[in-house]
Amino acid sequence: MDLSDSPEEATFRRTVRAWLGANVPRRTRHDALLPEPERVTRAKAWQRRVYDAGWLALAWPHEYGGQGADVVRQTIVNEEWVRARAPQLIGGMGIQMVGPTLIAHGTEAQRRRLLPKILTAEEIWCQGYSEPGAGSDLASLRTRAELCDDQFVVNGQKIWTSNAQFADWMFCLVRTDPEAPKHRGISYLLVDMHTPGITVRPLVQMTGDPGFNEVFFEDVRVPRANLVGQLHDGWTVANATLFHERNMLSSTTRTQQLFQRLVRRAQRHQRGGRPASEDAVVRQRLAGLAIRVETMRLEAYRQLTDTIRGRRPGINASVNKLVGCELNHDIARAALEILGDYAWLAKEDDRAADGGLWPIDFMFALGLIIGGGTAQVQKNIIAERGLGMPREVRPAPVAAVPGAAAPGPPAVPGTPGGAA
Ligand SMILES: Cc1cc2nc3c(=O)[nH]c(=O)nc-3n(C[C@H](O)[C@H](O)[C@H](O)COP(=O)(O)OP(=O)(O)OC[C@H]3O[C@@H](n4cnc5c(N)ncnc54)[C@H](O)[C@@H]3O)c2cc1C
Repeated sequence: MDLSDSPEEATFRRTVRAWLGANVPRRTRHDALLPEPERVTRAKAWQRRVYDAGWLALAWPHEYGGQGADVVRQTIVNEEWVRARAPQLIGGMGIQMVGPTLIAHGTEAQRRRLLPKILTAEEIWCQGYSEPGAGSDLASLRTRAELCDDQFVVNGQKIWTSNAQFADWMFCLVRTDPEAPKHRGISYLLVDMHTPGITVRPLVQMTGDPGFNEVFFEDVRVPRANLVGQLHDGWTVANATLFHERNMLSSTTRTQQLFQRLVRRAQRHQRGGRPASEDAVVRQRLAGLAIRVETMRLEAYRQLTDTIRGRRPGINASVNKLVGCELNHDIARAALEILGDYAWLAKEDDRAADGGLWPIDFMFALGLIIGGGTAQVQKNIIAERGLGMPREVRPAPVAAVPGAAAPGPPAVPGTPGGAA
C-alpha cells in the first residue's frame, strides 16, 4: 500500500493540524487534581468542540452525525491527534463500542435517537457485561430480564462497570431465557441509567480513583424497544461490541502518545548529572520500546490495507489488545525505572514527575491487561482461532470465551478515545 498522502489528503491533514494547533487545551499539573465532576464537564466540552469541528466519527454515516468519510481520513485525524498531544475523548465507549454496534445491529429508531448524542457527549455510556460470577466466562451471567408486555423487568448485579458513576446509558447483557443453553438465553439491552431501581456504588481502584462501580438493578423497567438484535440472541451482538472494545483498548494513538511522553521524560530527568536519555542502558530500553511501538503502527497500517481491500479481520482484535495493552504497561514500567526514587510520588506531591501520572498509568495499564478480556483469554483465542491449536478442555459444550467467535466489521486502527 502507498502510505503517502494524495494531494486532497495532504490538504485535509493540514486543515486538521491547524485546527488542533489552535484548539488543543493547555494542560497543567493541576488538571489531574480537579474533582471528578469538573473533569467530566471539561472533557465533555472538549469532545463537543471536536465534534463541532467535524473531526469525530469520520466514517459514520451523515444521518447519524458522522462525516461519511473513508477510514484513511480517520487515520489522518488519529495521526495528527498524536502529533498535537490532544486529550483522549470521554465518550470512547459510546463512539467506539456501542455506536458501531448500533450501526450494525440496532434499529433505525435506536440509531437516530442515540448516535448523535454519543458524538456530542450529551450522553455518556457504560458497559454492563461483567458480574460477580461472570468475567472470562461471560456467558455465565445471571442478571435476569423478564418480558412483561412491552417492557423488560431487570433484576441483578453488574460489577467493574467503568464510568457508571456519571454515565447516562448502559449497554447491558441480561438473561432472558434461563432454560436455554447459557450462550443462547442472553439478550442485549440499552438501559437508561436514570431509570428508578438502579443503584451505582463506586469501587475505588488501586490508582485511588473511583473509576469503576457495582451496579444493582431492582425491578428496573426497560422498554422492549431498547432490545438490540433478536430476543435471546444477545451473544452475537455482545461479540460485535467486544471486537470493537479490543480495538479501542489497543489504540495505536494512545500508545504512541505514551511513548512520546516517556522519551520527553527521559530527556528531562537527570541521572548522574546528565539527562537519563544519554545513559546507554536507558537508550537501549527506549530503542526496544520504540521498535515495538513502530511495529504496532505498521501493523495498524497493514490492517488498514485489509479494511480497504474488504478482508475479514479474523483474530486481529485479540492480537491488537494483547500487544497494545502489554506494551502500554511496559512503557509505564520503563518510566518508573528511569525516575527511580521519585517514581512513586503521588499526584498530590509537588515533586511528582509529570503530575504523578506515571504510577497511575502503570496501575491503570495493568488493569487494562485484564479489562475487555484478559491476556490469557486473548492468548486462548489466538492459539485456537488463529494458530489452529487444539481447543482447551472446558466444562461447557459451547465456546466459553467472550469474543471467541467475534464477528464484526474490519478494524479501524488507532482511533482516539478513552478506555473501558
Ligand atoms: C480496569 C478495568 C475496567 C473494567 N471495566 C469493565 C466495564 O466497564 N464493564 C464490564 O462489564 N467489565 C469491566 N471490567 C471487567 C473485566 O471485563 C473482567 O475483569 C475480565 O473479563 C476478567 O474477569 P474476572 O475479573 O471475573 O476474572 P476471572 O474470569 O475470574 O479470571 C481470573 C483469572 O483466571 C484466568 N482465566 C480465566 N479463564 C481462563 C481460561 N479459560 N484460560 C486461561 N486463563 C483463564 C484469567 O485470565 C485471570 O487471570 C473491567 C476490568 C478492569 C480491570
